[in-house]
Amino acid sequence: MTEPTHSPLTDTESFDRFSLPDASGRFGPYGGSFVPETLSHPLRELTNAYGKAKADPAFQEELDLLLRTFAGRPTELYFAKRLTKRLGGAKIYLKREDLLHTGAHKINNALGQALLAKRMGKQRIIAETGAGQHGIATASVCAHFGFDCVIYMGAEDMRRQALNVFRMRLSGAEVRGVETGSKTLKEAINEAMRDWVTNVRSTHYILGSALGAHPYPGMVRDFHKIIGEETKRQFLHAEGKLPDEMIACVGGGSNAIGFFFDFLEEPSVRLTGVEAGGRSLEQGDHAARFEGGKLGILQGCKTWILQNPDGQINPTHSVSAGLDYAAIGPEHAFYKDRGRIGYANVGDEEALEAFKMLSSEEGILPALETSHGLALGFRRATELPKEQAICINLSGRGDKDAMEAARLMGVSGLPEMKIQ
Ligand SMILES: *Cc1c(COP(=O)(O)O)cnc(C)c1O
Repeated sequence: MTEPTHSPLTDTESFDRFSLPDASGRFGPYGGSFVPETLSHPLRELTNAYGKAKADPAFQEELDLLLRTFAGRPTELYFAKRLTKRLGGAKIYLKREDLLHTGAHKINNALGQALLAKRMGKQRIIAETGAGQHGIATASVCAHFGFDCVIYMGAEDMRRQALNVFRMRLSGAEVRGVETGSKTLKEAINEAMRDWVTNVRSTHYILGSALGAHPYPGMVRDFHKIIGEETKRQFLHAEGKLPDEMIACVGGGSNAIGFFFDFLEEPSVRLTGVEAGGRSLEQGDHAARFEGGKLGILQGCKTWILQNPDGQINPTHSVSAGLDYAAIGPEHAFYKDRGRIGYANVGDEEALEAFKMLSSEEGILPALETSHGLALGFRRATELPKEQAICINLSGRGDKDAMEAARLMGVSGLPEMKIQ
């Protein structure tokens, strides 16, 4: 595990979190829109439509209603009493995004973008998925709206996540396997972009994290910032103060930026993102972009990327598919430079230990992605005094990972599922 570096903000350095991204989609030197001509038109159309929707109270009202009735918001803030006692230090609170419909925070964004697509008069939705969580959220939302839905998924991921493929198909989605390259998430995104260019009149592309070309990173953040807004209210109610530290795992960065956003201008609250440390910090063994990454451009966005000296994207590894991606969202890169958010990484083994610990101490099975944030939070809880309190974003539930955990723990005799 690598420790985060923080240089906490002072009042004189304060800034306006709402001023980013700027009109060209930049977060300081990061972000932007580095795409071929054929994509710049649909992105401009999307930027305009989102700008109008954002300013329209009727859009927010309709989204709020869906978040409540379809997704299950607000989610609870839970005090992990037994775990706190066991670790013996700071109080541990969990923001329960795992209780949302389809099992993770991803539905916040899927609902927001689907509603936007409806406003834009689109009838068809496409999305990429890695492990399947974003695909399942999108397929479910499309069934609700009656949209045609195509999910692009790497053939290798389809093999590993056969049950999720079946769940998407049950919700009426067509799942298209992608056979190019490493047959995983990066290729699925490329294929979805290709589809979008060809079918842009009828189709909206629901990108699943705070990544990609403008307007996606800022828009996806906006759809998730409700996580932090609720947390602030709930935490003040529970403790009469703000948390001393907030911790979230970072894949593309959507659950983390949604959780942190309302606290960026609260200098007393330490914010820490946790990347996947994988098997080791050797190249190819992890997905810690701030550990081995460099500035570059991937899939429309300038940010920190794991790449070799020739600019070829490095292979990545993590026990959790949702953190296993070579680029990090541009807003994270910006706040890292400013020292406002600190970043650590946690390896496969420690994540699995945290997965087991939360399950046995509290009866809550977390996603393996989430377990990375939990592992750092547990360590922090032992270091900080009892008067302090930390809050960890429980981004998703672990049912989807039970098989993989069983395999890693050496449990035998479980059935395997294969799907074409
Ligand atoms: C997808 C996913 C993540 C990683 O994505 P971010 O965009 O970084 O939030 C984390 N946790 C869960 C449960 C996920 O499904």
